[in-house]
Amino acid sequence: MLHYVMGYERKTDHPRLMGSTVHQFVHTMHTSAKNPLYYSTLKKAQGAWWWKWKTALEKNEPIMREHSKKKDDEYGVSGLCCITNYWNSNIDKPRPIEVEKRFKVRMFPKVWFVGIFDQVRSISVESIANIRPDLIVKGVLREGYDPVVLVDLKTGKKSYDPRHFRPDISDDELAAYQFSLHENMQITAYYWLYYQVYGKLPVAFYWYHLRSGKAFMTYRNKSDFRTFLDMMRYVADGFMNELYPLRVGDHCTYCDYNKECAELRADRPLMFSEPSDGIDSGGRMNIWPQEIPIGATQLKLKFPAPRKGK
Ligand code: SF4
Repeated sequence: MLHYVMGYERKTDHPRLMGSTVHQFVHTMHTSAKNPLYYSTLKKAQGAWWWKWKTALEKNEPIMREHSKKKDDEYGVSGLCCITNYWNSNIDKPRPIEVEKRFKVRMFPKVWFVGIFDQVRSISVESIANIRPDLIVKGVLREGYDPVVLVDLKTGKKSYDPRHFRPDISDDELAAYQFSLHENMQITAYYWLYYQVYGKLPVAFYWYHLRSGKAFMTYRNKSDFRTFLDMMRYVADGFMNELYPLRVGDHCTYCDYNKECAELRADRPLMFSEPSDGIDSGGRMNIWPQEIPIGATQLKLKFPAPRKGK
């Protein structure tokens, strides 16, 4: 948010750069009419990945948050693992109906919502009967649904499968562990966007974890849209009134602007603390000197004032 509001320079890091490069690479894999996945062999695809990753690192070198050969290699290998898993699972599958498809729809008066579906794939009635038997009536897909699934490619380390470190996890604990998968607003947003464009609901959404090759299925109903739209109304009203409340949470760890964010409150510096052995043995606080950015101005976003009575 600070990037848009304060006009700060865009930055990136190894996880994001690897993620966007894998997305581009998978997109390319679906652009050939000759070979199922563009390259004639997995070995050639893997060689092309290393070239693509090297080029991405060179191009983004000025905006990388950290320069580290070790991380260049580590994330190059992770990207290779994603590409290899994708190849092995998809070489014999039909091409998705859509790949990296961008849509823009009107959400509220003068407010547009833009989203990109990583993939839209068709699914047979037989497969729907396996994953969503509630949607099949007398062998036919229920009215209001399209025989498609949305697929979101994920390249991060964390997955929704805790069984490798908690093999005896209970059903309740697994549901709690995966709560965000089945409730989060990003997936609801994709469902809402698909519904706006096509007037029907997809039968499922797959959170496709490329590092492990595992896909996690979930879905949303139309009744989920209310919460999403209420939240978006709140966000849009904030934009219109130029109100940008800070949302401090775990995501701040990966924020490009946490230093600048700390400088927005002048009486306490950015800091970190070294742990102590218990509360009676001291510990140490490290602080950064305050550097209030000179000349940083708040962007005036030209949204129309809300009409009276609305
Ligand atoms: S550090 Fe956290 S609260 Fe501050 S701008 Fe970044 S994400 Fe928002």
